[in-house]
Amino acid sequence: MRYYIFCIISSSMKIMKFGGSSVRNAEMIRRATAIILDAAATERVVVVLSAMKGVTDGLIGTAHAAADAAAYRPMIDSIEARHYEAAEALLRDDQDHRARVRTAIGEMFSAVRELLHGVALVRECTARTLDLIAGFGERLSCTIVAAYLSAARHAAVYVDARELIVTDELHGAATVEIETSYERIVARLAEEPKIPVVTGFIAATRAGVTTTLGRNGSDYTASILGAALSASCIEIWTDVDGVLSADPRYVPNAFVVPEVSYQEAMEMSYFGAEVIHPYTMIPAVEKAIPLRIKNTLRPDAPGTIISDRPTPNDRPITGLASIENVALVNVEGGGMVGIPGIASRVFSALGHAGINVIMISQASSEHSICIVFRRTQARAALDGLRRELQYELVTRKIQQFEIRDNLEIVAVIGDGMRGAPGISGRIFSALGNAKINVLAIAQGSSEINVSFVVDGADREIALNSVHTAFFGEKES
Ligand code: ADP
Ligand code: ASP
Ligand code: MG
Repeated sequence: MRYYIFCIISSSMKIMKFGGSSVRNAEMIRRATAIILDAAATERVVVVLSAMKGVTDGLIGTAHAAADAAAYRPMIDSIEARHYEAAEALLRDDQDHRARVRTAIGEMFSAVRELLHGVALVRECTARTLDLIAGFGERLSCTIVAAYLSAARHAAVYVDARELIVTDELHGAATVEIETSYERIVARLAEEPKIPVVTGFIAATRAGVTTTLGRNGSDYTASILGAALSASCIEIWTDVDGVLSADPRYVPNAFVVPEVSYQEAMEMSYFGAEVIHPYTMIPAVEKAIPLRIKNTLRPDAPGTIISDRPTPNDRPITGLASIENVALVNVEGGGMVGIPGIASRVFSALGHAGINVIMISQASSEHSICIVFRRTQARAALDGLRRELQYELVTRKIQQFEIRDNLEIVAVIGDGMRGAPGISGRIFSALGNAKINVLAIAQGSSEINVSFVVDGADREIALNSVHTAFFGEKES
């Protein structure tokens, strides 16, 4: 009851988003709810949850298995069992809530099984159906957590984000209609006295068809809610202590960066630091709301603050990030020199082929353009380029395209790089000393990112040698 009263009288409000690892089992859900209730004692909170870790992957894998006429039933059975197990462990002492949650879980899995049966019959899973299936994970985790909070006598309410967030029909990674969504969020949540437990990741079109915001999209859900409600802070609770100077899975010396700017966080996440989804920064920047990355397992650790004005520091770079499994194509030829329009044709051909270009570099000789995209898009990219540049290929103005696969983009990021001489020198001499061959280099005009491409096999040496060149062997 104490929490309930505070909710009403406190004017400040924050968003607390817990990722899949933070709700992956009953034990983690207990920890997460303890953190939520601690915060709710002093201010209003809106909770956003991901699916339990692995569940979205599991649901997508099951849908593909059904479409391929593979044995999908044991897969869905084991996902269901995980949810019953967590609910059972959390609500053991509360018959009433336990029965209600069991019924809700049972109904959701009946619906999923019907969908999967349909997929298996037609041997096809459309992007629209896949969104619907993939979105059950968040509906399940939120149902369990809202019930657990209520069972512990803390007024909480399950809120389905499909009532709040309106998108277009681009299934798989839909685009949010910001204004309409903000209006719906305010109408539903601004005066809500209970703790709303909102499903991350899912949304709906105007017609009410389920969509998703793209993998890892629950961070973005949190940020949209935060901006709509003018929250004081958007907290992203995860399984690491904050934004680290590099991906800890590859760089053992990576350390927590206490503060980063929105732009640094955007660059880091765009280049593979999945600790935060790149779109998360967009609504936060608009309303200048700080984001805080925190560790559910170590709630007292300070975490990382992402804001527009981090405290100045003397670090030349902030961190490294990397994207694996990319391919590079060189569009090259003597006939390209001085001819206007080649670059525009190359990029519109790639655009029409649906290719997401991650990095470009063009030498000032105009003799070649190097383009980097995901490896899975290599075939489509080559086909698109061949169609558009058929004449130039036949007349030998352009050479046959050379494509290289299994590569890695590494990005070195930091506001401190702006106007600082010698950064590139340090990066490339570190790589040279480690005998790593660099295939392409790009620097954004904002000067806060230098990216380069190396062979996939060189990833760890490249990341660690550049990290050591700037930060030394041990945590600085
Ligand atoms: P959640 O389930 O909480 O959404 P994610 O798995 O999406 O968590 O993101 C957290 C993970 O991101 C970490 O466990 C870490 O392995 C990875 N990661 C990659 N790069 C970074 C980085 N620079 N800083 C922190 N974590 C990173
Ligand atoms: N559950 C979704 C995913 O795995 C969204 C998220 O976790 O942010 O991609
Ligand atoms: Mg995530």
